[in-house]
Amino acid sequence: MEIIRKGIPVSSGFAIGEAIVLDTEEFRIPQRTVAPEEVEPEVVRLQRAVEASRREFEGHLTRLSKKTSGIAQILQAHLGLLTDPQLADDLISTIRKNRFTAEYSVSRTLKKKIKVLQDSGSSVFQAVIRDFSEIEKALIRQLLGAKREDISRLTKKVVVVAHDLTPAQTLAFDREKVLGMVTEVGGRTSHTAIVAASFGIPAVVGVEGVTTAVSGGDTIILDGTGGTVIVNPSEATLKRYQAMERNYVLLGRRLERELRDLPAETRDGHRAEILANIELPGEVAAAIEHGAEGVGLYRTEYLYLQNGFNPTEPVQIDAYRQAVQLVGGRKLVIRTLDLGADKMPLDSFPREDNPFLGTRAVRLCLERRDIFRTQLRAILKTASMGQVHVMIPMISSLHEVIEVREFVDEVRRELQREGESIPSKVPIGIMVEVPSTAIVADLMADHVDFFSIGTNDLIAYSIAVDRLNERVASLYQPSHPAILRLLRHVIQVGEARGKPVSVCGEMSSDPVYTILLLGLGLKCFSVVPPAIPEIKKIVRSVTMEEARAVAGKAFEFSDARKTEEFLRSETRKIIPDAL
Ligand code: PEP
Ligand code: MG
Repeated sequence: MEIIRKGIPVSSGFAIGEAIVLDTEEFRIPQRTVAPEEVEPEVVRLQRAVEASRREFEGHLTRLSKKTSGIAQILQAHLGLLTDPQLADDLISTIRKNRFTAEYSVSRTLKKKIKVLQDSGSSVFQAVIRDFSEIEKALIRQLLGAKREDISRLTKKVVVVAHDLTPAQTLAFDREKVLGMVTEVGGRTSHTAIVAASFGIPAVVGVEGVTTAVSGGDTIILDGTGGTVIVNPSEATLKRYQAMERNYVLLGRRLERELRDLPAETRDGHRAEILANIELPGEVAAAIEHGAEGVGLYRTEYLYLQNGFNPTEPVQIDAYRQAVQLVGGRKLVIRTLDLGADKMPLDSFPREDNPFLGTRAVRLCLERRDIFRTQLRAILKTASMGQVHVMIPMISSLHEVIEVREFVDEVRRELQREGESIPSKVPIGIMVEVPSTAIVADLMADHVDFFSIGTNDLIAYSIAVDRLNERVASLYQPSHPAILRLLRHVIQVGEARGKPVSVCGEMSSDPVYTILLLGLGLKCFSVVPPAIPEIKKIVRSVTMEEARAVAGKAFEFSDARKTEEFLRSETRKIIPDAL
């Protein structure tokens, strides 16, 4: 029977295909007991799972080429704990004493051990916590008979259904094979959603209970524009969506062909710049294909998420060089490391209770100068190859800007002493994504070469709404009057002080806000590449006077929903088939 679910559309387009339900490894193991005569068979099941997990870890270890690498050490640590007789004793006695199932015994025993270590508050146990957690997952995988799906090596095209996906998991998707993705959690600007949008993978997040409604092999339709997910559609529904999908693809291709080489210029000749947001250098080519005039945001932290924590200077130089070469003389804004919050390599740093308010991005870089130095050396060494700009994320106070600039100068001098030739001027700009920075943009202006407004975080921090939490998604309002005021202020400061301002948060990729942003005086949009043709089309369809009038009127509403409705209808008036 056809099941219809609603979620938050985060990456437009349609996906129709066979579902694969990913083992999220966050198994919820119910507390179950067994009959007295089944206790010993449960012990045997457990012993077999321990043995199978031991073979699994050993197998990984023998396949590693470098037996001394960090991964090898981690695997050895897992093995050490897994084969510790004390662990087996604890697990078996939990089964025997309580008549628990083997799964529940594993889950309960290991979670207890992890909790004791976490409660100690000491960061020295981070690695052991990770080991216990990996052992728990491995054992439960064995007990449930669930093998980990390797999403990077799929053999057929699928729609991925999962409770949650990390940005790194999404990045590892085989893009040829993943038609679309649906998750139970997540928000419009979660990094998982952003990666899906960058890759042009249609996605819907925040679909409650979808992993239980769908079984692997079911046919699933996903509408990444409207946010609908249909499981086992009827023949008629399937036909209707197949036609919609064909139309969508044809329209998108036509728009792209028509607009790729045309400037983003209003009808009365005002020019805007449209740049691309990328996560990996390999995305540059597709961005240029879509019509990007350069890269306005290169999220370098994905290099760290992919290559294990803290990639070496040569690894980073390789990546930045590739990006500069692909961008071919156009602008390339390299954002320094924004690790933290939902972009964290597992267990590399002490756990924080509020990581979005914690040691994230520039705070981490200023604390860990060794990490920051490696990245700055790599960026500066690449700077002479093209139009490289450096952008600092999560600036919240002027002293951070000053400290960063001093450190960049120090690294530059160090490289010059080593005989490197670094361009005399590498523009350094900041992200405006913390409300304090937006408010005091005027105080920052003399110390920066440009501003880029990160609306994803700016909205989250201003309205106090978690960008990852689907339960508060309706409060995440880009057209909230407070956000409009902050945007206007920063754009005006930039204009008055001669500092270029761009918007690189997802707000600038959403066609609903294009006219508003233009009317506020924004001259540079940095967007997910697939959104470029539509944004260009809107810019090319209005005059500045029309855009200013729309922006002016948007300030008359005190309710974000009204503003949103108004912006939508104004956009439709100008381009009836938009949105
Ligand atoms: C933002 O916050 O708007 C932004 C562009 O940065 P990120 O999405 O990577 O946090
Ligand atoms: Mg941000």
